[in-house]
Amino acid sequence: MTPEPATGKPPSGLTGHTGTHSAATVIRFTRVSKEFTRTGLALKDVSFAVNKGEFVFLTGPSGAGKSTILKLIFAEERPTSGEVKIAALSSATMRHRDIAKLRRKLGIVFQDFRLLEDRTVEQNIAFALEVTGAPRASMSGRIGRLLTQVGLASKAQALPRELSGGEQQRVAIARALVNDPLVLLADEPTGNLDERATRGIFQLLREINATGTAVMMATHDLDLVKRSDCRTLEINHGQLVLDSAEPTPGAPPVTR
Ligand code: ADP
Repeated sequence: MTPEPATGKPPSGLTGHTGTHSAATVIRFTRVSKEFTRTGLALKDVSFAVNKGEFVFLTGPSGAGKSTILKLIFAEERPTSGEVKIAALSSATMRHRDIAKLRRKLGIVFQDFRLLEDRTVEQNIAFALEVTGAPRASMSGRIGRLLTQVGLASKAQALPRELSGGEQQRVAIARALVNDPLVLLADEPTGNLDERATRGIFQLLREINATGTAVMMATHDLDLVKRSDCRTLEINHGQLVLDSAEPTPGAPPVTR
C-alpha cells in the first residue's frame, strides 16, 4: 500500500492500492453518470477529486444532482457508469461488506437533522457510538468531548424538541463525528435555519475542517458561498459546470 503522507492524522485504515493517484485524494469521481429508471439521467460524465482536509461546496439549483453525488459517495446509490473512489475503495470493486467499512470513514448530516426524538442529546450520540462498537467504558468521555466540540456541553440531557434548529443540527454534527471521519458530508445542513444559525453551523463545519476532516457541503445558499473563499463545484442538469479550483483555460481567474 502506498504510504500516506505525514499529515498528523492516522492512516485511513482502508486496504488496497491507491493506483497512480495521490494518497491524499479522499474522493475521486471519474466520468460518473447516474441514470434512474424512472427519471432518467441525474448525473452526466462528472469528474472531480477532493483531497484530504479540503472544504468543498456543492452548489446548483434544486434537482441538479447534488444529493445524488452525496448518495454515490455514501454508497447509497451505485454509478451507472464511471467510478466513484473513496480513499482506496472503488465502486467498481466494492462488495457488500466494504460498504460498512466505507461508511465508517464518512459522517453525514441532513437538512432535517434526523435525530431520535424520544432520546436525549447524549442518548442520540451514544446510540451512534454503540453502532460503531465503541467500548461502553469510554463512551461518556467521548460524548462529552464531542458535545464540547460542537458547543453543546450544557445540553446533554435535553430532548431534540427542547433545542433550537441550530442546536439540533449541532447534535447531528456531533453524531456524524463519532467515527472521526475522513470526510463529513452535509446535505443542505443550513436549509432549515435562519441566517444567524446558518453562520454558526458554517463556522462549526470550518472548525471541524481545520482539524483535517474534508467537508463536502451541498447548498443553494449562494450568499454563504460567495462570502467564503472555499472551493465550489457547481452542478447544473447533472453536469459539473464549474470547479473553482480549476479555472477554464483562457478564462480570467474566478473572483468573488
Ligand atoms: P439536488 O440534490 O441537486 O436537488 P437530486 O440529486 O436530488 O438533486 O436529484 C437529481 C435528479 O435525480 C432529479 O431529477 C431527481 O428527480 C432524480 N432522482 C434523485 N433520486 C432519485 C431516485 N431515487 N429515483 C429516481 N430519480 C431520482
